[in-house]
Amino acid sequence: MLDWLIVGGGIHGTHLSLYLTQRRGVQSVRVLDPHPQPLALWRRFTTNTGMEFLRSPHAHNLHFDPFSLVTFARTQVGEPLARFIEPYGRPALELFNTHSDRLIDRYKLADLRLTGRLQGLTRLTDGWRAETDNGAVEARRVVLCIGMTEQPYWPEWAHDLGTNVHHIFDPTFSREDLPLWKQALVVGGGITAAQTAIALALRAPGTVTLLMRHTPRIHQFDSDTGWITPHYLDGFYHLSDYTARRKMIVEARHRGSLPVDVAKELERAVQDNLLIQQTDEVVGAQRTPSGINLHLASGDHLTTDCLVLATGFTPHRPGGEWLDVAIQNYELPTAPDGYPIIDRTLCWSPGLYVTGPLAELEIGPVARNFIGARLASERIGEILR
Ligand SMILES: Cc1cc2nc3c(=O)[nH]c(=O)nc-3n(C[C@H](O)[C@H](O)[C@H](O)COP(=O)(O)OP(=O)(O)OC[C@H]3O[C@@H](n4cnc5c(N)ncnc54)[C@H](O)[C@@H]3O)c2cc1C
Repeated sequence: MLDWLIVGGGIHGTHLSLYLTQRRGVQSVRVLDPHPQPLALWRRFTTNTGMEFLRSPHAHNLHFDPFSLVTFARTQVGEPLARFIEPYGRPALELFNTHSDRLIDRYKLADLRLTGRLQGLTRLTDGWRAETDNGAVEARRVVLCIGMTEQPYWPEWAHDLGTNVHHIFDPTFSREDLPLWKQALVVGGGITAAQTAIALALRAPGTVTLLMRHTPRIHQFDSDTGWITPHYLDGFYHLSDYTARRKMIVEARHRGSLPVDVAKELERAVQDNLLIQQTDEVVGAQRTPSGINLHLASGDHLTTDCLVLATGFTPHRPGGEWLDVAIQNYELPTAPDGYPIIDRTLCWSPGLYVTGPLAELEIGPVARNFIGARLASERIGEILR
């Protein structure tokens, strides 16, 4: 029996595996994930968007040492990649990824991986059995780090449009492999939509429209920096009503927003006729012999032969059926929104822990981000002190 099984080996799970092994000296730990290599979805999504810089500061890196990335940026390997955007020293994606690769190599994090997908949980007297599509694994403690990233949001009108309709967060989508289009349309209102539209327009200038429901909303981060300080969090913890906590999270997260540098880049792309930015909302769509015809709230129409959705993730609790069954079988406490009610150490039930969106009602609005992963590791690590 393992001491720890981490389910999900993306940013959160990989960070936690590094933290547990290197900070807390845990030896018996494995990371279960359907992708053989760490950070697979992170790499795919960030490549597809064409983003050059992270939205978060360099201190929010994969290592538990906040200075690890800047220290790496001064080494022979890191120095040529050392690009940052101020304020907050947001690192280049290539620097972040190369630094992450070094950590994965140095601490042999890929060796901890078990390839498979969790499909069920059974409580044992001293832990849990994880049923996977690749056999069962038993562990004293299981941490669910599964994130939202396997649930791209498809608007109702896009459901039955057939070919030439893509979601930027579909794990099989590859922007590079898109066949050349006559008129591409990117739908979405946030940083990913803007970056994707610019990336497509650089490939075929003048053939891309970015359709946003609202004019660009400028915010440096997904939520204000105060959300990692007692200044904001005291008020959050003061609320014992989880519906009120959810309301606070929703209000705090700047959905569909972009930082000023990306907004400026978008503005330049429009001025240089690289792309068209239109503010309107799709209310219906149909397939035509030449492509897809979209009906807009203003009464206008748009036609496209390449529709790319950058509409984010569905907000429902990640996990799906196997988690619904576990919740029912073991009476795992949930709030009215379906999300786990957990304690300070992110413990949901003896031996069962969560991070990321599943830990949102305890960590707050930053739970899904890198800083949320770091805070989660420290909370879970408290039980090992
Ligand atoms: C394009 C993009 C850019 C972003 N930029 C930033 C940024 O700059 N700063 C920031 O703080 N945040 C950023 N985020 C938000 C967030 O930090 C990332 O989405 C991050 O990857 C979330 O980590 P995660 O571990 O929850 O998800 P992932 O990295 O996607 O990992 C989750 C893993 O769990 C696996 N999994 C799911 N279900 C199961 C199962 N049943 N069994 C086993 N494994 C399972 C998945 O296959 C996946 O490998 C960004 C997000 C996106 C999409």
